[in-house]
Amino acid sequence: MARELVVRGGRVVDATGERRADVAVADGAVVAVEADLEPSSDAVVLDAGGCVVAPGLVDLHTHLREPGREEAERVESGARAAALGGYTAVVAMPNTDPPIDSVAVVRQVLDLGATAAADVAVAGAITVGREGERLAPLAEMAALGVRLFTDDGTGVQDARLMRRALEYASALDVVLAQHCEESRLAAGGQMHEGEWSSRLGVPGIPAAAEELMVYRDISLARLTGARVHLLHVSTAASVAMVEAAKAEGLPVSAEAAPHHLCLTDAELAGYDPVFKVNPPLRGPSDVAAVRAGLANGALDAIATDHAPHPQEAKEAPFDAAPPGMIGLETALAVALHELSGVLSIAAIMALLSWRPAQIAGLSADHGGPIAPGTSANLCVIDPRATWVVDPARMASRSRNTPFAGRRLTGRVRHTVYRGEPVVIDGEAQR
Ligand SMILES: [Zn+2]
Repeated sequence: MARELVVRGGRVVDATGERRADVAVADGAVVAVEADLEPSSDAVVLDAGGCVVAPGLVDLHTHLREPGREEAERVESGARAAALGGYTAVVAMPNTDPPIDSVAVVRQVLDLGATAAADVAVAGAITVGREGERLAPLAEMAALGVRLFTDDGTGVQDARLMRRALEYASALDVVLAQHCEESRLAAGGQMHEGEWSSRLGVPGIPAAAEELMVYRDISLARLTGARVHLLHVSTAASVAMVEAAKAEGLPVSAEAAPHHLCLTDAELAGYDPVFKVNPPLRGPSDVAAVRAGLANGALDAIATDHAPHPQEAKEAPFDAAPPGMIGLETALAVALHELSGVLSIAAIMALLSWRPAQIAGLSADHGGPIAPGTSANLCVIDPRATWVVDPARMASRSRNTPFAGRRLTGRVRHTVYRGEPVVIDGEAQR
């Protein structure tokens, strides 16, 4: 059998377990997973010695900014950043300009994604213009393959409208994802409301602004039986509510962002807008709860909330700077660095690959066991490599990473997307 590519000498880790094996790929698919495969003379051989070979990562929450804010990111640049971060699929959030609330804009983003270095799944808006007033054409967008809808950037404020959206989504078998924030309670807030916001004299966003909507949407999941996915959960009480909802058997899933599992509001002490994000960095007990939630299954996934902003926007005074951090190129390393002592590598990969693939409805091509006949979407990770985050070397068009200058352990060596090596030895190939 023709073997175009062989990933040699690694430890294969997927949802079925771990084993030493080489992985051979041809025509975009895995064709063999066996020890000591002999590559044909013209095959590309990727060295995976000392590395983990896993299904490609899947990001539930990526802002690609196109159309409308191409100075911050483009589909192409964001997908390249994703590939460098080990991702083979990302879900593009709909808070673009115009927003992704129609068949035309869904088609536009899908077309842009067709030539990208990772699969770009499109999330549609729940409401027209993300204005929270009336439902967007969910069925028409679902007919183009959209599996996840959200007004992310803001939450749907009207509980009655959200109930209707859930009933509608349930009939379409799609997921509604919520940015949990009660906007009037959060209004004017610039950071987490707590000791640090008082000390710094910066208006705060209370944890309750998130928790009220988490509670409301769990209640609506109970009322409608529809699936709800809670985006970037950041407080201890939110995690506890999700845990209780799952214990009750409700169809609720939730994600946490890498920054919420390791950074606290103390980072804001220097008023540096790079640490401004929404939901905001919280206190130490919240960070501990997010970590515990990832470890005990209360939280299903780590999602980047990759939110690029041009440098001049992030260099504005703190209260004028937009919230958001990039994350595609650092998420895996942050997760490995922070969670390796707590979770097995397979458990960490579950949070980054197969659980998000299931939630996003992408599990036919992403996150599945590495076996003959499956799509060759793979990442090869050196779990021991240490590196210093250098924003200047990133593929993203923006540089707003809170991890600049930090030394992290764990790095992507190669990424294989649809059988093609799009990253080799940490270098993007296109
Ligand atoms: Zn959000």
